[in-house]
Amino acid sequence: MKTRSTRLSNIPPYKFAEIQKMKKKALEAGIDVIDLGVGDPDLPTPNHIVNKLTEELQNPANLKYPSFAGCQEFRKAVAVFYKKTYNVELDPDTEVLALIGSKEGIGHLLPSVIDPGDYVLGPDPSYPVYRMATLLADGKYHNMPLEAANDFKPNFDQVGEEVLKKAKVMFLNYPSNPTGATVDIAFYKQAVDFAQQHDLLVISDSAYNMVTYNNYIAPSILEVEGAKETAVEFGSLSKAYSMTGWRVGYVVGNKDVIKSLSIYKSNVDTGVFTPIQLAAAHALTSDQSSVSEYNHVYKQRMDTMVEALQSIGIAAKPARAGFFIWAPVPDGFTSEQFVTTVFEQTGIIFTPGNIFGPGGEGYFRLSLSIPNERIYEAVERIRQGLEIHL
Ligand SMILES: *Cc1c(COP(=O)(O)O)cnc(C)c1O
Repeated sequence: MKTRSTRLSNIPPYKFAEIQKMKKKALEAGIDVIDLGVGDPDLPTPNHIVNKLTEELQNPANLKYPSFAGCQEFRKAVAVFYKKTYNVELDPDTEVLALIGSKEGIGHLLPSVIDPGDYVLGPDPSYPVYRMATLLADGKYHNMPLEAANDFKPNFDQVGEEVLKKAKVMFLNYPSNPTGATVDIAFYKQAVDFAQQHDLLVISDSAYNMVTYNNYIAPSILEVEGAKETAVEFGSLSKAYSMTGWRVGYVVGNKDVIKSLSIYKSNVDTGVFTPIQLAAAHALTSDQSSVSEYNHVYKQRMDTMVEALQSIGIAAKPARAGFFIWAPVPDGFTSEQFVTTVFEQTGIIFTPGNIFGPGGEGYFRLSLSIPNERIYEAVERIRQGLEIHL
């Protein structure tokens, strides 16, 4: 009996599995493990959002099949959010689509827009879903290296002519996971020009658009004149409102692309539970003070952890957005060797950079989405217990 397609067999093994095995063994041995590998906010979903969900659950009409594209209230709320935050006008009916989390939308977009053998330009290192979704759509992922020397931005001039002829899509992700890098509107202008020149669809993943500090405000690619002709942007409630488990996000921008995705989705899923959409609409349009409050918490953790890493000679720098620190491993280590050494000496789990693509080799990622007291405990262990002989 055939139990696996060639397509699925071609997906590389899940690299986080090794780390999970290491963690399980240590926990069984009674070691107090601090997992700085996960990117799931410890801070709770704000009460007013939870309350809105419970309220909407009482209405029987909300418990039926949701509408495919998302309810009016949610799509309008996303449009209002874009107008208020970026001064970008969106038509809620054609330029906004509700998603079961942005990961779901990214995964289903590729088979909706590319054909087998088409090239997809994507950052390296990157959120692993871009690469895997490309493979699952029988596409070819072409790495655009992100280097510290270029502030972790891709160099569009480096993409070869042959690749450009076959490329249909380009992924961008700012504020970036895993690098923490941010961009300004001038970069998006360059990206839109490049995409128009080569007839590419730009997929901008803005999962961390609201998780920013130090007065930095992340721009949207849709602020660029004409961007809607060439780009879509994914957004998520998961990170800014600590709603990872709720599974709700959206995609906005080019209406033909959104139409394709909605056709695909209407054949494989049936949308987001309506009470969740209504609570998400409320989150986007009501009091935003929890967002700045949470960002302040992440920023303090960031500063404390960066200082601790610097004190043992690691060249970590604070990011302006997101809740990750991305730093080079000390000389003489590979990413995996360093992460293993840190774990053996301190019981702290970092993520080896190579998990995010070959360009991540030589780096590690650390997440600040765990409670303060565990962050401080990790900082103590790094300061006192880590001997890496720099
Ligand atoms: C967390 C994350 C997502 C997925 O968010 P969901 O809306 O929860 O699916 C997408 N992109 C990046 C870069 C992320 O880190």
